[in-house]
This record gives sequence, structure tokens and C-alpha cells, in this order.
Amino acid sequence: MPQDQTNSPPIEQQGKFSSLLGAARDVLNGNLATEQKQAQRLSICAQCPSRVTVPIIGDKCNDCGCVLQLKVKTLNSFCPKRLW
Ligand code: SF4
Repeated sequence: MPQDQTNSPPIEQQGKFSSLLGAARDVLNGNLATEQKQAQRLSICAQCPSRVTVPIIGDKCNDCGCVLQLKVKTLNSFCPKRLW
């Protein structure tokens, strides 16, 4: 059976990694989403089955592992299901 010769992580992990990098870049550069965009994103997450509520932390995305209150604030973060 042919083996995967690349050292790249699975595509779903690449998405998480690039999302984290984008968020970190946004935080460093002060690129924040508008209040309207944050509210729009949160309203989509509120109806998503991937949203879980964790004590102390609050709402979290089970697909990417991000804390939603923080994730929606960074301009270039994106939903792993491409819902926003
Ligand atoms: S980021 Fe996307 S997948 Fe995660 S909870 Fe929000 S809408 Fe659902």
C-alpha cells in the first residue's frame, strides 16, 4: 500500500492551523471585525450544532476548538464549516 510521503498534517488540521495563524495575525495588527459582523457571526454560531457551552470559558466551537467570543472578533478568522 502506498504511503503518504508528505509531512503535511491532514487537511482539516491545516484549516485549523491557518485559522489560528490568521487570528494571531489579526490580533497583532489590530484587525478586528466590526461589531455588526461579530454579532452576525455569533448569531450563526448560536444555531450551529457544533457550538458547545463550556463552564467558565463560555461557548466554544467543537470543530475548530476556538472560544467563539474571541474567534468572531478577529477579522480573518473563518468558520470551519464555511457558515461565515
Ligand atoms: S464557527 Fe462555524 S462550525 Fe463553529 S460553531 Fe460557529 S458556525 Fe458552527
